[in-house]
Amino acid sequence: RNADTALYLAKSGGKNAFRFFEPHMNADAVQRQQLQDGLRVALAGGQLALHYQPKFDLRSGRLTGSEALVRWHHPQLGNVSPARFIAIAEDFGMIGALGRWVRDTACRQMVAWEQGGAAPSQVAVNVSAQELHGAGFEDGLRQTLYETGIAPERLQLEITEGVLLRETDAALAKLRRVRDMGVSLAIDDFGTGYSSLSYLRRLPVDIIKIDQSFIHDIGQDQAGGVIVRAVIGIGQSLGRRIVAEGVEDSSQLDFLREQDCDEGQGYWFSAALPPKEFASRYCQGLAV
Ligand code: C2E
Ligand code: MG
Ligand code: MG
Ligand code: MG
Repeated sequence: RNADTALYLAKSGGKNAFRFFEPHMNADAVQRQQLQDGLRVALAGGQLALHYQPKFDLRSGRLTGSEALVRWHHPQLGNVSPARFIAIAEDFGMIGALGRWVRDTACRQMVAWEQGGAAPSQVAVNVSAQELHGAGFEDGLRQTLYETGIAPERLQLEITEGVLLRETDAALAKLRRVRDMGVSLAIDDFGTGYSSLSYLRRLPVDIIKIDQSFIHDIGQDQAGGVIVRAVIGIGQSLGRRIVAEGVEDSSQLDFLREQDCDEGQGYWFSAALPPKEFASRYCQGLAV
């Protein structure tokens, strides 16, 4: 091992790929490089999976749908969190391919569940900022609908609030066109950005997902539920369905029910599950 230049054998980069790392590259930069190489391999097949987290109607207790969450098991590093590798996919031009894989896989899974006799009524897929802004997004989405044969009403796209804020009229029009395809839209992590109320009114979304940090605040102190109550009130007045994310205990659930929140999702119900476990628990009558 040379003192000046660390030689790193990027096994994950494929056939005997050598990379030279300059001394100024810190451990984080080295790992980013390793993840970038690894992600290309992962996208080529085998290492990525989707897990599904159920969502429930808080009035009836019925399953309303599921959210697909991507999982990556790296052969050397183990499980890498999506928050980390999605940022890397964005930085290195892989988000289009990753987003496409997630969308296609989720839609194919839904169709397979339907053909098996029972399926959740909807699957939600997260869409990253760059993916949405990319020129090929609408065509890619149309292709997914066409090739997988999923009914568009059964697909929902979740877009984080921060992403939407940068939006212009052109981008709002893009969201409207997506919605015109029959796909529903949700604003994810709501409350973490700085949306104005007039902006919220103009935004063509069907669903508002209240960020889990606000659900966590419920019951912490007297004012803990104030924001949740306000978002439910305003959101429902604007005709949106409200989903509470990150519901972890029954006191949060009681509060959300008292406030007439529409849907809940979180560890109190279930974490995200591999497809077979999701189906055996939540798709009754389905052969797995
Ligand atoms: P998100 O879309 O807001 O997803 C919710 C995250 O909270 C998930 O983490 C989920 O596992 C976790 N979670 C669910 N219930 C609870 C709970 O009760 N308590 C707590 N503390 N956490 C809970 P995950 O899977 O690590 O994903 C993190 C973020 O990464 C997601 O946030 C989403 O923004 C992004 N992401 C995940 N999968 C995809 C994907 O396929 N595509 C894109 N573009 N982004 C994705
Ligand atoms: Mg989400
Ligand atoms: Mg969220
Ligand atoms: Mg999030």
